[in-house]
Amino acid sequence: MRLILLGPPGAGKGTQAQRLVETHGIPQLSTGDMLRAAVSAGTAVGLRAKAVMDAGELVSDAIVNAIVAERIGESDCASGFILDGYPRTLAQADAVEAMLAERGLKLDAVIELVVDDKALVGRIIKRADAARAAGQPVRKDDNAEVFEERLREYYKKTSPLIGYYHAKGKLVGVDGMADMDSVTAQIETIVKQVAKS
Ligand code: AMP
Repeated sequence: MRLILLGPPGAGKGTQAQRLVETHGIPQLSTGDMLRAAVSAGTAVGLRAKAVMDAGELVSDAIVNAIVAERIGESDCASGFILDGYPRTLAQADAVEAMLAERGLKLDAVIELVVDDKALVGRIIKRADAARAAGQPVRKDDNAEVFEERLREYYKKTSPLIGYYHAKGKLVGVDGMADMDSVTAQIETIVKQVAKS
């Protein structure tokens, strides 16, 4: 099963991807996590990406596409994966198509977490507070100022993917404002339908 989770920052993509991992045993491919790991490790990619990420802007398509192309070729992706936070631009969406076509694979569904903008900044602040309380590192981009830019980037560059995948008949929306468990239940219903078709 190959799924994309689509939605603005703070929509709950990471949480729901984790739950899919636990239930279905396929990996979560979060480009945000991969880029943060590259930044922490001080790799060439990390050095190039850091300032862009801290500013809430998008890292270049070339960098992100290369990371994903390499990752989906790994053996744990053979029976499927969940793309979380990727693709984020039309060029990235085209790149996914090409990567899958090259391997004779297809995307099963694009699940859009539909949320109310006003709730998002509050969720991000909560995430930062929870990390702080747990003594974990707080993401540099999880604050109100950078969040504004992340949301702007989402509307400018990522939201066109909604139309792109709708036109391909792949888009399924779920109510991302519902509590976490019912979002998970909505996603599981979609996954079951996809598995049958
Ligand atoms: P995330 O953890 O998905 O919220 O991503 C954190 C940051 O990583 C984003 O604000 C971007 O700077 C960068 N990033 C993650 N995924 C992508 C992507 N697919 N394309 C470009 N930049 C990305």
